[in-house]
Amino acid sequence: MSSDWDGYGDGWEQLREETLRRDGYRCQRCFENRGPLQAHHVVPRSDGGPDSLDNLVTLCRPCHGVQHPDNNRFNDSRPKASLFPDTRASEEVARMRGPEDSVCERCRGVFDHTELVAHGDSYSMTDHYLTLCKPCVGVVSADGALTLNENRLHSNDRFSMPELRDRKTEAPVRPSVFADSSVAARREPVSAKERYVDDTVLRFFLGGWLNTAATAVFLYLLFRFLTG
Ligand SMILES: [Zn+2]
Ligand SMILES: [Zn+2]
Repeated sequence: MSSDWDGYGDGWEQLREETLRRDGYRCQRCFENRGPLQAHHVVPRSDGGPDSLDNLVTLCRPCHGVQHPDNNRFNDSRPKASLFPDTRASEEVARMRGPEDSVCERCRGVFDHTELVAHGDSYSMTDHYLTLCKPCVGVVSADGALTLNENRLHSNDRFSMPELRDRKTEAPVRPSVFADSSVAARREPVSAKERYVDDTVLRFFLGGWLNTAATAVFLYLLFRFLTG
């Protein structure tokens, strides 16, 4: 039936049918009931994953493509997958539609789907949208100058704006230099390190590789300089 599985051999069709029956004929990523349904190897065959029920999970073809981001055979169907996995999806298949969808467009960090919110027109997100980490949504939504519309924020689970605003200090003070301009908001520093390092060009020199002790020495010297 499917050209994706040429050469899987005798018994595969029966195993596939058993997998689909066990999973109630529903895709286990999006939980929609659209065909054709396929049986996905959780541990890939190429890594020694067995043809057995406990290594197989039912997926629709678009969601199957999400599990194989580098397989060109799925390029036509992958964009039809939902942006977020359903909340019922198991960890093995609960991932964002594409690797780029896991990147926050303000801080450029990579996040799990539970930590992401999308800004766009609809849940399916087939049109233009941005993904943001929850703390960065808190930063951007607190800044009235930017273009985040609360009615256009989506995730696969409930979240509240007060909860996200409470988390804004978890986000970096400055947006990444590669941030989307529509969400490139700065937030107010809340500590001396944030004020004198994270909110200045010093963050490019001291941000990643200095440990806490070295930062403390730096701040001490800066303090001496400023008060000297
Ligand atoms: Zn699906
Ligand atoms: Zn972020």
